[in-house]
Amino acid sequence: MLEAEGLMVFYENMLALNNVSMKCGEKRIVGVFGANSAGKSTLMYTLSGIMEDIRRKEEMAGGERITVLGTIRYRDQDITGVKPSKRARMGIILCPERRRIFPESTVIENLRIGGFLASSGQARETLGYVFRIFPALEKLKKRVGGFLSGGEQQMLAIGRALMAQPQLLLMDEPLLGLSPLIQAMLMRATREIREEKKISIIVTEQYARPVMPIIDYGFILENGAAVLEGTRDDLMNNPDVRSAYFGV
Ligand code: ATP
Repeated sequence: MLEAEGLMVFYENMLALNNVSMKCGEKRIVGVFGANSAGKSTLMYTLSGIMEDIRRKEEMAGGERITVLGTIRYRDQDITGVKPSKRARMGIILCPERRRIFPESTVIENLRIGGFLASSGQARETLGYVFRIFPALEKLKKRVGGFLSGGEQQMLAIGRALMAQPQLLLMDEPLLGLSPLIQAMLMRATREIREEKKISIIVTEQYARPVMPIIDYGFILENGAAVLEGTRDDLMNNPDVRSAYFGV
């Protein structure tokens, strides 16, 4: 479904992604694990195409020079250089880090904004689906986003991404700063979303442990490079991965 090859991203002369190649098949969940500044967000921006927008904005403002190299194929099409809005219409939807919901809009408004790419029928159906997997959100639907707890905001961020009808959902650090209980609930919901919607998901996270149970395949990023990859079992049985990402 998605295949990236030789991705390199430079912020000026700083290499943030170093020759990263990765794949995510249809209906797969792929994990990308790495410490702070390993390049997780840079990778997600590059796959979703938002990096193209950031690069152009910087160029127009005479700011930082950002260079993106490598190729990205999605369902047998070369999408390298395709605008993020077009990638979104093709089904590549980013659920960004730090829960970028609209804090002054209510839960229902946030969800409706997410549904701007959907037909009204799809939007209605998906809204029902979002409230079914996250019943807490239905009770909070008139509450403004900024007054939600961290976990509720993350549910809303995922719900909003679902409203955009993803085929490939990119989740950037969805568990950041949340309690283990909420983390487990969100990962169960993510797996259910894959089963029910039959979509592919790439999820980044600093710590592998809470994400491991739901992934089919995983990559370890270090200083912008994919230093290790494998199936869940390969990674779980690798002593280096265990010590660095499981704390055992
Ligand atoms: P975190 O968990 O802290 O979000 P990350 O793995 O998502 O980390 P990135 O945000 O992709 O990492 O950052 C990778 C590297 O690129 C870091 O060293 C970061 O400081 C640098 N970087 C990110 N964005 C920019 C930018 N706009 N200009 C310059 N350097 C940047």
